[in-house]
Amino acid sequence: MAETLQGDTGEWEIVIGLEIHAQIIALSKLFSGASTEFGAQPNTQVSLVDAGMPGMLPVLNEVCVEQAVRTGLGLNAKINEHSIFDRKNYFYPDLPTGYQISQFSDPIVGEGIIEIDMEDGTTKEIRITRLHLEQDAGKSIHDMHPSKSYIDLNRSGCALMEIVSEPDIRGADEACAYISKIRMILRYLGTCDGNMDQGSMRADVNVSLRRKGVTELGTRTEIKNVNSLKAVQQAIAYESRRQLEVLEEGGEIKQETRLWDSDKMETRAMRSKEEAHDYRYFPDPDLLPLNLESAWVKEIKETLPELPDQKKKRFVKEFGLSLYDSSILITDRARADYFETVATGHDPKIAANWVINELLGALNKQDLDLTQTPVSAQQLAGLLALIQDNTISGKIAKDVFAEMMDTSKDASTIVEDKGLKQVTDTGTIEALVDEVIAENPDNLAAYKSGKDRLFGFFVGQVMKKSQGKANPAVVNEVLKEKL
Ligand code: ADP
Ligand code: MG
Repeated sequence: MAETLQGDTGEWEIVIGLEIHAQIIALSKLFSGASTEFGAQPNTQVSLVDAGMPGMLPVLNEVCVEQAVRTGLGLNAKINEHSIFDRKNYFYPDLPTGYQISQFSDPIVGEGIIEIDMEDGTTKEIRITRLHLEQDAGKSIHDMHPSKSYIDLNRSGCALMEIVSEPDIRGADEACAYISKIRMILRYLGTCDGNMDQGSMRADVNVSLRRKGVTELGTRTEIKNVNSLKAVQQAIAYESRRQLEVLEEGGEIKQETRLWDSDKMETRAMRSKEEAHDYRYFPDPDLLPLNLESAWVKEIKETLPELPDQKKKRFVKEFGLSLYDSSILITDRARADYFETVATGHDPKIAANWVINELLGALNKQDLDLTQTPVSAQQLAGLLALIQDNTISGKIAKDVFAEMMDTSKDASTIVEDKGLKQVTDTGTIEALVDEVIAENPDNLAAYKSGKDRLFGFFVGQVMKKSQGKANPAVVNEVLKEKL
């Protein structure tokens, strides 16, 4: 739903376009063999190319190209078999060459489209403008010395995909839904880990306002490097309010680059917006144009995994799940796989219920994610099998599950050890029923004189005597007979 702002002079629409920088999953950098591993000691993963030493030549990493193509395919985008690497010239201390190798006129991926999912269950299509490959810069560190800045070049030269959207996004909720969807797709594809807190995914947020009903775009500002969904939400809220005030007073928005200050909770002007000509883009003379073979692209296409939207639809169709349950289960691939393992051979709706309400609920309580689960999918399936063949009741199953979470033991072991097997043997149950009847002469008399509601009392007593293990259906049957 489009988010609007109410001013004194009328209603304004928020227009947003996002540029997402996603670090590619690859062992080495875009143009060098240095490692990309996160968290290493500063400046231990820097080749001469990454340090910008004179005379060093970049060598393109094929894995990074493959990852970009895979991502493009996952975003339903056009793969450009011919693309070019350009130098984007600017000076920055953490950019030792004085230019960034990027793609400008001819990116590797062209127009695409994705569907975002809103909380109210509606969906919306957002167009992707392009995806291009570029190098990441190093990191300046300003808080280690009172008067000096330090630099860590480990990240310098790591491969990034910049994914640019059309200005189709209408407010903070849609922006977050868009980023979440991109992140989900990239994680499914295995092309980016999407960890915004480690900086492997960050967003530049372009925001403008226009009067409701107007089709032309207003002047935008660009908020750089926003690194969490919460910050995206807050930055858009702040920036759109700020623009509203300026516009309502008859002022103009300056096209500029701003930063989000999460301590002061405000955006601040960093610099006036650079134009493309400021960067003096030109094709990098050290690198040949990139030409892909269509057979190679086709090969990659054939190995794409089932993507979240397809999976969501399949779960609804194949397993009869609600759209809501299905979207919870497909949030990540591991969760979906877990569910499918549990659902194999069992009622899928019961399986979904156990995964969503019991398992995810219990993990959440212990602050664990699915990779740390004490109960494997096979083990949960084992528990469901015991319910299905009437070895235990659904109620006992919950206790068994709690024990499984604590001990990682198999359900059958726990049931065996604790003697939790459901009692279905009529003889045993008859004996319990007899005892209960003998112990409660008053209630028996009342029941016989017409107080039907007391039937439930007798069921309860028998269940209690059996420590919850008697099969309720058999208990009912026997009681009916004996009473
Ligand atoms: P640049 O490369 O200079 O940042 P682009 O034209 O590539 O500029 O646009 C960058 C992003 O800004 C895109 O995601 C685009 O959708 C978005 N954008 C462009 N114009 C507007 C606008 N008026 N309001 C909001 N977003 C915009
Ligand atoms: Mg930009």
